[in-house]
Amino acid sequence: KHDIHIIGGGLAGSEAAWQLAQRGVRVKLSEMRGAGHMTPAHQSDGLAELVCSNSFRSDDDEKNAVGLLHHEMRRMDSLVMRAGEVARVPAGSAMAVDRDVFSAEVEKALTQHPNITVVRELVDTLPQDGPVIVATGPLTAAALADSIGALTGADSLAFFDAIAPIVHRDSIDMSKAWIQSRWNKRTAASNEDGDYINCPMTKEQYLAFHQGLMDAEKGEFKEWEADTPYFDGCMPIEVMAERGVETLRYGPMKGVGLDNPYDTSEEHPQGKWPYAVVQLRQDNKLGTLWNMVGFQTKMKYGAQVELFRTIPGLENAEFARLGGMHRNTFINSPKLLDRQLRLRTASHIRFAGQMTGCEGYVESAAVGLLAGVMAATELAGENWEAPPRTSAMGALLSHITGDAEASSFQPMNVNFGLFPPLHKVPKKQRKEAYTSRAKEDFGGWLATLDGIPA
Ligand code: FAD
Repeated sequence: KHDIHIIGGGLAGSEAAWQLAQRGVRVKLSEMRGAGHMTPAHQSDGLAELVCSNSFRSDDDEKNAVGLLHHEMRRMDSLVMRAGEVARVPAGSAMAVDRDVFSAEVEKALTQHPNITVVRELVDTLPQDGPVIVATGPLTAAALADSIGALTGADSLAFFDAIAPIVHRDSIDMSKAWIQSRWNKRTAASNEDGDYINCPMTKEQYLAFHQGLMDAEKGEFKEWEADTPYFDGCMPIEVMAERGVETLRYGPMKGVGLDNPYDTSEEHPQGKWPYAVVQLRQDNKLGTLWNMVGFQTKMKYGAQVELFRTIPGLENAEFARLGGMHRNTFINSPKLLDRQLRLRTASHIRFAGQMTGCEGYVESAAVGLLAGVMAATELAGENWEAPPRTSAMGALLSHITGDAEASSFQPMNVNFGLFPPLHKVPKKQRKEAYTSRAKEDFGGWLATLDGIPA
């Protein structure tokens, strides 16, 4: 007999199971690998298999947001961080692991835990009764994905991410760019000045940029991704460029209805419309992150940075994340989930891991950790208080459960752009300021967790 059912024994499901079991909750953990099923990316039956790189990225908890997340997870006795420490291999300031040792450590801890039963089985439908944590990851098996889609609505479940680069607002040069909505159109939610940051291009700049898109090095779709069609409006920017030199000027880069305040020439029959424009739209409620509208791309990361920094106003752009397109099952969390990762329409179901729209091994494990602690708190009849928004866990959780813009929601790594801004701190000291504020606030929050049975 179990108290909670976790579906998916990857990074998030394994961490959630551990957190619950350590708090005295009896867990059933269902994993389809080992029962005759496989995802296109996994290679083994091991729990918490790392499907690609063997890195948990930076371990620097003073200047780096993912390093800070490591720190917070360690303070919460994360199994992923524990096993990662045992499996650690040299990697400078990064944390890299031997993937087989790592997976074996996680599996040993879970299978030997008296409160955990690991069941090798494929789950095809969402359980009617709970509590349940769904942590089936970016390659969720098809039947279960259908069952999730039936509950959330097809529009709120994506099978492919189409990520446009996201830029830190304070790295945009506003002496070249300006804020305005096309035709000055407004909605009830609009900002007073307009909703877009516009980066104008002359004809020469546009033609050079177009050529840059054509020439840039692109990544390949994996064989099992290649037959996934682009969604309407999600075509990679370079594919649009290939259709003709003018295609982008009639698509996301059209300049009509925008008046360039820096254009001092006299000849403007219709308005000071730039020849072409790159528009950025606010991506989070804090206003610290802005996405490049229509710029989803398969270009290699280095090529993106090089080319996008030729855009007027983005010469010194710092990217919170670069563009990408992959197969990736995830739900529209800001719309569907409450602040405790529960489906608003079926609160016995919690989501965790990459399915919630976080991105990365560490983030997935962190959201698994949070889902586990939330569920344990609920089962103990205690009140849940979220980690402070100034912490890495709090910032990530706030983002996926409501601060992100639902209409353009795409998977996101942890980064300082998700944290409440510290504008007054000089830029050079800002990263340390984010981490020291986070550590202090997180420590205070941990002290309040005493109500949870240990
Ligand atoms: P997973 O770790 O995938 O775990 C989900 C588990 O659920 C799997 O074990 C799966 O077998 C199981 N499952 C699925 N459906 C069912 C079902 N119906 N019934 C029972 N079990 C089921 N992140 C990085 O940080 N670095 C990388 O290099 C990286 N590379 C990636 C490469 C690829 C190809 C993909 C798809 C993703 C990559 N990611 C990477 C992103 C992401 O962080 C990882 O996929 C991460 O493993 C997600 O954790 P998760 O727990 O949400 O899902």
